[in-house]
Amino acid sequence: LLQLSAPLNMLGMMYREVKQAFTNLERLFGLLDERQDVQDRAGAVALQASTPRVAFEHVDFSYDARRQILRDVSFTIAPGGTVAVVGHSGSGKSTLARLLYRFYDVDDGRIAITDAAGDTRDVRDYAQASVRSAIAIVPQDTVLFNDSIYYNILYGRPGASGAEVEQAARAAHIHDLIVSLPDGYESQVGERGLKLSGGEKQRVAIARALLKNPAILIFDEATSALDSRSERSIQAELDRIAIGRTTLVIAHRLSTVMDADEILVMDSGRIVERGTHARLLALSGHYAQMWQLQQQEQREAVAIEAAAES
Ligand code: ATP
Repeated sequence: LLQLSAPLNMLGMMYREVKQAFTNLERLFGLLDERQDVQDRAGAVALQASTPRVAFEHVDFSYDARRQILRDVSFTIAPGGTVAVVGHSGSGKSTLARLLYRFYDVDDGRIAITDAAGDTRDVRDYAQASVRSAIAIVPQDTVLFNDSIYYNILYGRPGASGAEVEQAARAAHIHDLIVSLPDGYESQVGERGLKLSGGEKQRVAIARALLKNPAILIFDEATSALDSRSERSIQAELDRIAIGRTTLVIAHRLSTVMDADEILVMDSGRIVERGTHARLLALSGHYAQMWQLQQQEQREAVAIEAAAES
């Protein structure tokens, strides 16, 4: 038995690691829709969302009871409006997105969604499937399936037609690249196929999101640096697809958030500053400091790119 316990422990460890890696990869993706911890309440109603209002009300949350992740988080995204969240790595930004998508339920407080009829309900009182079909997520790191690029976009709405897939790809500015490939839309991507760049993968994710045509959009900005040109064009696409949708942006670059209705600055699971870009700059606090730092970094990056191009 003793001889067996080491390999068994090892297996247990590997299982947990693989599971965690999988959760990281697919966490925002809907592939784990059948998670058991989140269940529909009896009498849950289908969410009819057109431009919903989303409100976090005094939300507390922990993945593990021993370590609280979110503390008393409250904010409202107006119908069709945009709220952006910034803060250090690990401050809880992506957790907000996971709660809205209902990968997990809050410990205290609630997340409320106001539906098309103007009724406001706790997200737990809507049927989970209807909440998830109202939300599209452009994740930090897009997972591409080992399949054709066509299928990878179609995943946004499996019933969509070929023309709709192409329209979404055009709107996400990835169509021209696709048709330039020898196999066009049938090109194999993913680990065993064509390796797309970070920016291209994010465009595939944007095309998927567009195809889903969601009432609520969550954009989890890529942490990996894109060159400043693709960053600007992804930003422009995001601004366009966010029009008329209730949008939550999890931002790593402050240039992404300047136009948000409200910016939340998170630190250790709390909102420590909030307001518009102008107001936060005037506060001369965390945000203003982050802004100055990023402006500096950006100037350096632009100088390096310019030097490389000359
Ligand atoms: P980043 O900017 O790096 O993406 P973030 O602000 O989005 O970070 P979260 O992903 O929300 O941070 O994580 C908040 C905290 O919760 C982190 O300390 C993280 O380690 C922890 N955490 C995240 N997912 C889990 C999980 N599944 N189980 C336990 N702890 C987790």
